[in-house]
Amino acid sequence: MAKADYYEILEVARTADEKELKSAFRRLAMKLHPDKNPDDAESEKKFKEVNEAYETLKDPQKRAAYDRFGHAAFEQGGMGGGGGFQSGGFSDIFEDIFGEMMGGRGGARGRAGGGGGGGRERGADLRYNMEISLEEAFAGKTAQIRVPTSITCDVCSGSGAKPGTKPATCATCQGSGRIRAAQGFFSIERTCPTCHGRGQTITDPCGKCHGQGRVTEERSLSVSIPSGIEDGTRIRLTGEGEAGLRGGPAGDLYIFLSVKPHEFFQRDGADLYCSVPISMTTGALGGTFDVVTLDGTKSRVTVPEGTQPGKQFRLKAKGMPVLRSAQTGDLYIQIQIETPQKLNKRQRELLQEFEQLSSKENNPESTGFFARMKDFFDTLSD
Ligand SMILES: [Zn+2]
Ligand SMILES: [Zn+2]
Repeated sequence: MAKADYYEILEVARTADEKELKSAFRRLAMKLHPDKNPDDAESEKKFKEVNEAYETLKDPQKRAAYDRFGHAAFEQGGMGGGGGFQSGGFSDIFEDIFGEMMGGRGGARGRAGGGGGGGRERGADLRYNMEISLEEAFAGKTAQIRVPTSITCDVCSGSGAKPGTKPATCATCQGSGRIRAAQGFFSIERTCPTCHGRGQTITDPCGKCHGQGRVTEERSLSVSIPSGIEDGTRIRLTGEGEAGLRGGPAGDLYIFLSVKPHEFFQRDGADLYCSVPISMTTGALGGTFDVVTLDGTKSRVTVPEGTQPGKQFRLKAKGMPVLRSAQTGDLYIQIQIETPQKLNKRQRELLQEFEQLSSKENNPESTGFFARMKDFFDTLSD
């Protein structure tokens, strides 16, 4: 079931400021509080939703994440990678992303700060989910991706005005993009409703972008995926997001990377694990087998006599490369023993004969186990 929108839950507009959020939350929390609605499951559920919505929206970073990606911003499974983000890891990543934007240059997000930018707006950040194979994560690759995004209109160079014409200074705000209105004792400044803060009006709009200054296009980008990259990594391409409005800076593009599960190898950091079934006779008599490793070579594994299931062999430096380092993890071969099935008459006879010739030394584990189990029974029945 789709989760309800946080703003709808709090019954506020998406533009609500901190004060509005807080008072909406107080009003609803008061109304829905379990103390006031004993044994009312519906109110209790709503009360929890209201809490959750407010917890998210009151935090500017979480709110920015939610505005951009919706509930997906806080879902761990949403990546398809499964377990790529440890709990807590995800919000760290968002802090990382939004920390950068909120601080530094991010200060001028949305309305173009006080600096007289005249309605310049930074373009939105974009998210692109990319799935690669373990082989690709091993070797690294250059991926071509197509990103639908709005870019600066090339006909009007982003001004929105038809070439050869110029935007006119807005008559309402005289070009400042802001107007002052008296309200009681106070004089309140707000964005000019005529030009929406840009300070200019377009009398002759550009035919391609219809005065927007940007157009939607699909761009091809080449993204370099470094060797050794981990599931759940994000890659930031600065300035490759949506074009800014009216000459504002472009947003960034974030590639959210997931690595597909592999048929033979499980990954744990730089180490790989491969479970290999061998026959009972190979386990008993010893033998060799070859495993193919991700570098495209084969490695020979020698199994000694009497190898038990669960036995692990390490192939040094046959794991994953460590990102931006010369190190390589190891490959662990985990032995499984396959018991023979569908025996023919002759095989059965041979195994029965083998069983008759077997001693305690052949099967110390099972012999010992059943002996101890018997002792245990005897102590219980004394
Ligand atoms: Zn244009
Ligand atoms: Zn204006």
